[in-house]
Amino acid sequence: MSEMFSSINLDDNLSLIKGVGPSLSNNFKTLNINTVRDLIYYAPRRYDDYSELLKVKQFKPGLISAKLTINNVSGRYVRRGLHITEALGSDETGSVRLVWFNQPYRVKNIKNGVVYYVSGKFGLSSGRMLIVSPAIEIESDFPINTNGILPVYKTNKNLTITQIRRSIRAIYSRNFKIKDYMPPIVIKQEGLISLAAALKNLHFPKSQEDLSLARLRLSFDEIFALSLVSFKNREILKNEHANVVEIDVDLAKKFIKKLPFNLTDSQRAVIWRIYLDLAKDRPMNRLLEGDVGSGKTVVALMSALMVMNKGWQVAFLAPTEVLAKQHANTIFKLLKGLGLEKKVGLLVGSMSLNQKKIVKEKLAKNEILLIVGTHALLESDVSLKQLALLIVDEQHRFGVNQRKILQLNADTIPHLLTLSATPIPRSLALTLFGELSISRLTEKPHQSTNIKTEIIAESNINHAYSVIEQEIKQGHQVFVVCPLIIKSETKSRRKDVHSVYQELGEVFPKFRLGLLHGKLSADEKDRVLSDFVTKKLDLVVSTTVIEVGVDVPNATVMVIFDAESFGLAQIHQLRGRVGRGKHSGFCFLIGDEDILKNERMNSLVRLSSGFELAEVDLKLRGPGAFYGLSQHGLTDLKFTEFSNLEFIKKVKTVALRFFTDNRISDFKDLDDKVSELASIRTLD
Ligand code: ADP
Ligand code: MG
Repeated sequence: MSEMFSSINLDDNLSLIKGVGPSLSNNFKTLNINTVRDLIYYAPRRYDDYSELLKVKQFKPGLISAKLTINNVSGRYVRRGLHITEALGSDETGSVRLVWFNQPYRVKNIKNGVVYYVSGKFGLSSGRMLIVSPAIEIESDFPINTNGILPVYKTNKNLTITQIRRSIRAIYSRNFKIKDYMPPIVIKQEGLISLAAALKNLHFPKSQEDLSLARLRLSFDEIFALSLVSFKNREILKNEHANVVEIDVDLAKKFIKKLPFNLTDSQRAVIWRIYLDLAKDRPMNRLLEGDVGSGKTVVALMSALMVMNKGWQVAFLAPTEVLAKQHANTIFKLLKGLGLEKKVGLLVGSMSLNQKKIVKEKLAKNEILLIVGTHALLESDVSLKQLALLIVDEQHRFGVNQRKILQLNADTIPHLLTLSATPIPRSLALTLFGELSISRLTEKPHQSTNIKTEIIAESNINHAYSVIEQEIKQGHQVFVVCPLIIKSETKSRRKDVHSVYQELGEVFPKFRLGLLHGKLSADEKDRVLSDFVTKKLDLVVSTTVIEVGVDVPNATVMVIFDAESFGLAQIHQLRGRVGRGKHSGFCFLIGDEDILKNERMNSLVRLSSGFELAEVDLKLRGPGAFYGLSQHGLTDLKFTEFSNLEFIKKVKTVALRFFTDNRISDFKDLDDKVSELASIRTLD
């Protein structure tokens, strides 16, 4: 057997595949594609339909594909730095001029008198109808860029679309086996095609019909498997016992009395729901959604309070050190009035080994009851035997999986409270994540202070500058956010923090400016942020590292450069950083002239609720790119349109019937798949 047809394995590293090789496989890593499986499951973003080959006589302006004999290839420099290759493509109905700019190698490469597949955009250029820069491939060569319905993959600067197509073709020229984990009975009843066929169609569709069958199958799989995960989790949790945390109402009242503010009704209602959960002997699994600034921290703390009161432990996971420290500080202050502050601890990566050791010992001895920390808490030598409640703040920053959490090796399964500012539309949540209880904080404490959002073309930036000046002169502070850290080498005109920092330094020579980005060490980042918090800085120029949770009550202006390059969720989260204190805030969305008409940007001006923005995002961006959903770590839907609730419900019904009538463990492959998904899904 020739090596071409020898078998490969889905788990094989791409570097082993002939036709991909070590260097290309390194580039694939930048797209998070490592194995054969990863590449096979790399779904195209869209397709270009060249399936209809046209005769020259039929050409109309637009995308065309044709089988042409190429002749008269010639090349010349029309002026310094501009080379033109020209050729004539003909069939029996006529000929068309083909032109390439600055690709002199074409002159030698193209074979006169040979039949090629030619595809590209037919149109008017310098007064003549022609095809500029067409893709061409020799008919007999098994073309991948010019013939049929072509998959268009997401590329990056390390990989071209042709390289991706070629690599996938290289894989499909070998033998490999794709296990179909779907029970045959389901496949038959639902009229699905096999998994292997679906994946092949995804990359090499022969018709639109092929494509819809492929999508149907893959989308069915996603919802089917996710539904089973959810049913299974629910069943497991049903049989699990948790610590029963009885509620001490007097303690709650005492705590509330000492708060520097009144709880909102919404906070009260959610706290009460959580108390009811904690008092059950089943583990709570509750997601608390609340817009930025809605006051989730105090809700979490009041939940923790009851657990500490029983002498059990609480772990409060924060996504960054800055946030962990801030939480620890807030909590320390709020618990002081109750004499519980000595039971609070902090564990973050930048602490010295010795400091960490002391904290770990105290944890092991149950002397610390509330530990606030980052990933450092998930290390295996952290013992939290008495853990009864786990709180995860802004979980999308984590990607912590269940197994790691379990490493916290508590004696009993802890109650789980997840805090998130990126909402899932309720209908979708209920359908997909039935086992999850969801609460929402629907009002914001600082209703009186609002944030005024304005879209500004860069030519008009002085308007933003004058607001900045006026605010800083009043003793307030300013955030400026840019998409890049360093100036991009490509022609992209997007702003980077370094240039903007310099520019603003010139505009505002008297103000104290700070610079913050992800490439700084944790220490440096901390220093800049704490200088900002303590008012040693007036303005900080930053990347989105400031997005999550930091509380600077005195900051009133958020300027976002190249706002269009950010997601709605992200911008909403960013502007939530200002106007948190007594003062109202300003958010400026800056871009070129087009930004004024941008629908997404305008929805930010119109809407101040994250929940409403979520619905808008769902409508504007459609499947896949849904507002913050993938950030939840809750799901990884690649093939299903989130908005297709009818379909989702239908598949879920099929899954439920299957789950009720069968034991999943009788279907080994399916069971494996479900377990795999269950461990990817964070914190079920
Ligand atoms: P988030 O939901 O974004 O995590 P935080 O919990 O950080 O919000 O709360 C934002 C700010 O609002 C904090 O300074 C907090 O002390 C304050 N806060 C929380 N609840 C209330 C309330 N009911 N009234 C007034 N201020 C509150
Ligand atoms: Mg928060």
